[in-house]
Amino acid sequence: MEDKAIQVTCPKCGIKINNTAGWFKKPGNCCPGCQLRFSTERFKKAIDAAENQP
Ligand SMILES: [Zn+2]
Repeated sequence: MEDKAIQVTCPKCGIKINNTAGWFKKPGNCCPGCQLRFSTERFKKAIDAAENQP
């Protein structure tokens, strides 16, 4: 479900980011607050957790 809207909390700066699961997985995208890449291990875990929310 790449079009599912999820909210991910940045593991580095703590801001909440609302977007689709597909957007979070797009190569090159990063946190608008601290520029941490979504492809990092810490972010992947946060994205996975958000995706698995009911
Ligand atoms: Zn951040």
